[in-house]
Amino acid sequence: MIPVHGNLRGRVAVITGGSGVLCSEMARELARQGMKVAIINLNKDKGQKVVDSIVSSGGEAMAISANVLEKQSLIAAREEILTQFGGVDLLINGAGGNHPDAITAPEESVQEVEGKSFFDLEERGFTNVFSLNFTGTFLACQVFGQELLKAQAPSIINISSMSGLTPLTKIPAYSAAKASINNFTEWLAVHFAQAGLRVNAIAPGFFITTQNKDLLVDEKGEYTNRSKKILAATPMKKFGEPEQLLGALLFLADEAYSSFVTGTTIPVDGGFNAYSGV
Ligand code: NAD
Repeated sequence: MIPVHGNLRGRVAVITGGSGVLCSEMARELARQGMKVAIINLNKDKGQKVVDSIVSSGGEAMAISANVLEKQSLIAAREEILTQFGGVDLLINGAGGNHPDAITAPEESVQEVEGKSFFDLEERGFTNVFSLNFTGTFLACQVFGQELLKAQAPSIINISSMSGLTPLTKIPAYSAAKASINNFTEWLAVHFAQAGLRVNAIAPGFFITTQNKDLLVDEKGEYTNRSKKILAATPMKKFGEPEQLLGALLFLADEAYSSFVTGTTIPVDGGFNAYSGV
C-alpha cells in the first residue's frame, strides 16, 4: 500500500476521462491522498459511480459531464469546479482511446486479411481518434492552464502510451496522437517552466481495459496473437494492473518528490520500451 504523504491534502485534481479504467484508479488514489477530485467525462453517470466510491471511503469528489473536444463545455466544467472546489492544482489528461475506424486489419501490407487496409481508412475515422487523444489534451490545458498558474505548485500529467514512443502496428492515428502528446508535453513544460507549472506524462504499457480488449482477448477469452506478441516483448511477461500506475502518478503530482522534474514521459511498462526483442 502506498503511504499517504499529506502534501497533496486539500488540493484539487481535475481528471478528464476520470471514470475510465486507468483514470478512475488514479482518481481514487488522489482522493485517498486527500485531494478533492473533479471527474470529467462524456457520461456523468459513470463519473458519479467513481465519485460515490470515493465519498463512501471518506473522500471528496464531483462528477461533471463535458466533452474534451468542445472548449465551451470544458469552460463550463471549469466554472462548476471553481464554484465547488475553489481552484485547480493538478490536471490529468486521461480522456483518450481508439476506434475501429482508425485501425487497419493487417499489421503489414503484405498480409492477406479481411478488413480495412491502410488505403481504406477514412479521414474522419482517423481524425476523430487523433483529435480525442491530442486535441482533447490541448484544449483542457488551455482551459485549466490559467487556473493552474494561480496555484502554489501546479502540475499537468498527460497520458501517453507505448505507441507514442515507437508506433504500434494497426493503430496509426492513435500512435501519431500519442507521439504528439510526448512532444506537446515537452513544449508545454518549456513554455511554463519559469511560471512554475510542471508538465509531464505517463506512458502506460499494456493494461487490458475496455478500449483495447477486442485487440487483446478473443471471443473465448483467450489471448490473441497480438497479446502473445506483447507479452513476448514485455520483459516482465505480464500485463499491467491499473494500480501499478499510481507510484508514477504521485511522483509527478507531488512536488515534494518531483519539484525539478518537468517535460518527461515516464514509461510504466514492465520493460517493454527498453527491450529490443533480442
Ligand atoms: P477508458 O476507455 O476506460 O476511459 C477513457 C475515458 O475517456 C472514459 O471515461 C470516457 O468517458 C472518456 N472520454 C472519451 N471521450 C471523451 C470526450 N470526448 N470527452 C470527455 N471524456 C471522454 O480508457 P483507459 O484504458 O482507462 O485509458 C485512459 C488513458 O490511458 C487513455 O488516454 C488511453 O489512451 C491511455 N492508455 C491506455 C492504455 C491501456 O492499456 N488501456 C495504455 C496506454 C495508454
